[in-house]
Amino acid sequence: MTLAGSVVRQACTTSFSALSNQTLMNLAEIFKQGNKLAILYVKCANLEDAQQVFNEMPQRNSLSWTVIIGGVAKQGQWHETLRLFHQMRGLGLQPNNFIIPSVLKACANLMSLQEGKDIHDYIVRNKLEIDLFVASALVDMYAKCGSLDCARQVFNKMPHRDLVAWNSMISGYAHNGQDAEALEIFNEMQREGLKPDLITWNALIAGYSHTGKTAEAMKLFNQMQSAGMKPDTVSWTALIQGYTQSACSNKALELFCQMQQAGLKPNSVTVASVLPACANLVALGYSREIHCYMARNGFDSDVFAGSALVDTYGKCGCLGDAHRLFDKMHQRNTVSWNAIISAYTMHGHGEGALKLFYQMQHESIMPDHITFTSILSACSHAGLVDEGWQYFELMKQEHNISPTVEHCACMVDLLGRAGHLKEAYEFISKMQVEPDACVWGGLLGACKVHGNVKLGERAAQHLFVLEPENAANYVLLSNIFAEAGNWVEEGKVRKMMEKRGLKKRPGCSWVEVKNRVHTFKVGDKSHPQIEEIYSMLQSWAGEMKEAGYVPDSNFVLQDVDDDEKEHILCGHSERLAIAFGIISTCHGTPIRVIKNLRVCGDCHTYTKFISKLSRREIFVRDGVRFHHFRDGVCSCRDYW
Ligand code: ZN
Ligand code: ZN
Repeated sequence: MTLAGSVVRQACTTSFSALSNQTLMNLAEIFKQGNKLAILYVKCANLEDAQQVFNEMPQRNSLSWTVIIGGVAKQGQWHETLRLFHQMRGLGLQPNNFIIPSVLKACANLMSLQEGKDIHDYIVRNKLEIDLFVASALVDMYAKCGSLDCARQVFNKMPHRDLVAWNSMISGYAHNGQDAEALEIFNEMQREGLKPDLITWNALIAGYSHTGKTAEAMKLFNQMQSAGMKPDTVSWTALIQGYTQSACSNKALELFCQMQQAGLKPNSVTVASVLPACANLVALGYSREIHCYMARNGFDSDVFAGSALVDTYGKCGCLGDAHRLFDKMHQRNTVSWNAIISAYTMHGHGEGALKLFYQMQHESIMPDHITFTSILSACSHAGLVDEGWQYFELMKQEHNISPTVEHCACMVDLLGRAGHLKEAYEFISKMQVEPDACVWGGLLGACKVHGNVKLGERAAQHLFVLEPENAANYVLLSNIFAEAGNWVEEGKVRKMMEKRGLKKRPGCSWVEVKNRVHTFKVGDKSHPQIEEIYSMLQSWAGEMKEAGYVPDSNFVLQDVDDDEKEHILCGHSERLAIAFGIISTCHGTPIRVIKNLRVCGDCHTYTKFISKLSRREIFVRDGVRFHHFRDGVCSCRDYW
C-alpha cells in the first residue's frame, strides 16, 4: 500500500482524536495541491464545513470522495454515507477499496443486508476481496446483519485474517445465541497465535449478556482478568446490561458500584443500562445520584440516557420529575416520548397520556408499537372505551402497525374493565394472533370484577392449558365461584390446585430507605426492626377504626397472595413496607413501595386511610400500575 493510501485509510477508520500528528500532517501534505476539502477536514474535523467545501468543489476526484465518505461514516451518519455512495456510483465513478469498508459499515449499522449483498457482488466482480480491510468489513457486515453463514464463508476464504475479522465472527455468533460457535472461533483464534484483545473479550461478554446468560458472561469477565486483561467501561457495561435485562436488578446495581470502585467512569450507555434496574427496584436515591452524575458529565442531554432517566423517574413514582426532565431534553426521540407517555399511563393519568400523544404527533415523532401499548392501556385505565377503539383503528390504518398480542391484551382489558365482557370475548375470538395468557388473564380478571361465571370458566380453561402452573388463575376462578355461592365448583377448583401441588405465589414488597432496598414478604419476621413495625401497625389499628376503616373480609376469602391468618394478623406485605417506610423517615417524606402482585382492594382502602392519618404521600407500584395515595384518596380514583 502506498503511503498516501495508508494515511487515508487511517484517517477514514480512526477517530479524529486518535490520529497522530504525523498522520494529520501527511494527510494535509497529500491534499495540499488545492484540495481544500482535506485540509479543512483535517484541521477542524467539522463535517458540515467539509461537506460545504465538497459541494463547492469544481472537480472531485476519487480521493475527495474517499475523504468525504470516510468522514461521514466516521461520524456515524450511515444514511448519508449510503446517499453519497449512490451519488458517486450515479456519476459512473467506481468506489475503491478505501470507500467500500465505510459503506459496508453503514450497511452493517443500518442492518441493510440487501445493500450489503449488492456491494459484495461488486467486490467479487472487481476482485477486491483480497483486500484485508474489505474482506474484514464484509465479514462484519454479514455478522451484524445476523447472516452468519455468509459471514463465515467470507471469513473462511480470507488468506489472512486480522483481529477485526475474528472479533466480528465471535461477536456475531455470541449475539445470535450461538455460544458454542463463538467459543470455537475464540479458541481457534488463539491456536493461530492471535491474542484476544479487549474487543474480543467484550464481544463475548456482551454476546452472553445479551442472550441472558449472565453466569457465563460473569465467568468470561473473570477469565479475562486472569488472562491479564483489565476490563474497561464497555466490559462492565455489557455485564450490567445483562443483569438488568435478566431482572437481576440488585446485582446490576452492585456491579455499577463495583465498577466505580475499580476506578472506571460510567459512560452514557452504562447509565442507560443501570437505570432500568433502579426503576425496577424503585431505588429513587440511586436514581437521583445517577441523575447528578449525568448532569455533571453532560449525559443528561444524551437522548438514550435521558430517556432512561425519564422512564426511571416515572417508575419511581416521580411523575413531576419525569416531566421536568423530559421538557429539558434538547433532543427527543420515540423512546423519550414512550417513556413519558407510559409514565402518565402508569400513574393513571389517561387524559395526560393522550394529550402527550397528540403533542408527539404534532412534533412529527413517529409512534411505534410501544407507544400504542401505552395509549391503549391509558384508555383502559381511564375507562375510555370509544377512544380505545379509535386508537386501535388509527394504529392499524394510519401507522400500519399490526396489532401485537400486547395490543390485543390491552383491548381485552379495556373492554373487560368497563364491563363489556361479551364484546371482549368476541374480540378474542377474532384476534389475528394467538391469544396468550395475558389476554385470557385479562378476561378472567374482568369476569371476577363483574361476576360473570360462564365466561370466567371459559377463560380459565384456556389459562389452565397455557400456564398450568400458575396458581393465581385457579384462585381467581375459585373466587368467582365462591362469590356466586357455587361452593361445589369452588371446592373442585381448590382440589385441582391441591392435586397439582400448586401454591400461591407469595406476595413481596420493597421499600427504599436511605439508599438501601428493604424487602418484606408476607408475615415477615426477619427484618431487624420487625417489632417496631408491628407495634406501628397495631397502634394504627385503633385510629383507623375511629376514622371509619372497616376491614373487607371479602378480600380474605379472595385473597390471591397469601394466607388468611397472616392477612387478619398484619395484612399483606405492602403494609409492612409502608409502616417501615414511615418509621424510618422524617415527617412528610413520601413513601415509595413496590409490590410483585396486584394490590388487593382491602390494602388499597387501608393505604388510603394511612395516607390521611400519617399525612404522607404513598406511592405503591404493583404488578399492574401505580397508585398515588394522598390525603385519603388514590390517583386511580378506585378504578384499577
Ligand atoms: Zn392486600
Ligand atoms: Zn389506587
